[in-house]
Amino acid sequence: MNIHRTVVAAILLVASTASAEFAGRDPRYPGFAEQNFSLPFRAMFIGAHPDDADYQFGATATKLVKAGARVVFVSICNGDNGHQTMDPQALAARRYNETQAAAKVYGIEKYIVMGEHDCLVEPSVDLRKRVTRLIRSFAPHMVVTHRACDYHADHRATGQVVNDATYLMGVPLFCPDTPVPETLPFVMYAGDRFTLPRPFRPDMLVEGDDVIDTTLEALGCHESQLFEWLPPEYGIDPNSIPKGRTERIAFLKKNIPTDLLLNVELHPDVVKRAFPGKNLKYVDAFEICEYARPPCQKERAFLASLGFRWMDDGQSRGSK
Ligand SMILES: [Zn+2]
Repeated sequence: MNIHRTVVAAILLVASTASAEFAGRDPRYPGFAEQNFSLPFRAMFIGAHPDDADYQFGATATKLVKAGARVVFVSICNGDNGHQTMDPQALAARRYNETQAAAKVYGIEKYIVMGEHDCLVEPSVDLRKRVTRLIRSFAPHMVVTHRACDYHADHRATGQVVNDATYLMGVPLFCPDTPVPETLPFVMYAGDRFTLPRPFRPDMLVEGDDVIDTTLEALGCHESQLFEWLPPEYGIDPNSIPKGRTERIAFLKKNIPTDLLLNVELHPDVVKRAFPGKNLKYVDAFEICEYARPPCQKERAFLASLGFRWMDDGQSRGSK
């Protein structure tokens, strides 16, 4: 710990004991936002690509919307490299339309595409500012993103940008044109399969089996991906892909995208413990980010009332 951090820690210690109001604004303070929580619950998924939310947050979004929550998806890039043959500009336009079709299936409020180029996302200061403004404007209770250790450079950069914005979004002089909202979010990472520097830790689980039809319907909106770009990558003969919408969704049901199976495959014991007596195939999983405030008890209770299972010990992570 350097001198600066020691001084800051000392100031925070004094402030947190002297002023409950100050402590309430410090994202590291465990009780933060407890007094500010009110419905509707607001959730924002910030992914790198125009279909990431659908793989990692589809079931969760479906259930949140059904419960009256406000949900926004964000794609940092426009997806203009995700095809073998299409013109990048035409592909970006097509993928934007695909996001809007998926948004309608879920009934989410918005599917924002920020327009960075595919495969070129950088955790720049400019992007940090734009993401900060976006989060402040919506004032979500919960933000979900990628971990910054991931196979795809765009996922890593996106996770890094959200990590970078997480503390700064509470700093009023950073991007002063967009005021700091009363509620700053807790941040969660979506489930992944990567093990370095350490494997993903499932702190909250959401059953996906009971809404898998909606998830597949929404995923199927990303036609350029599910039925053109990805099949050859997964060894599926492109000629075996049907043409009609109904037939394509039926095809997806028979050929479930492997990303939807990931969390149950990697954490079978945790899933069994979370959902005893059920033999689930699809689960969304989330890890609490320690750079943000922890979810407060009212938020935990609201999400638990939707059937979401908290698997951490309930103690605030990152509150020290
Ligand atoms: Zn992606």
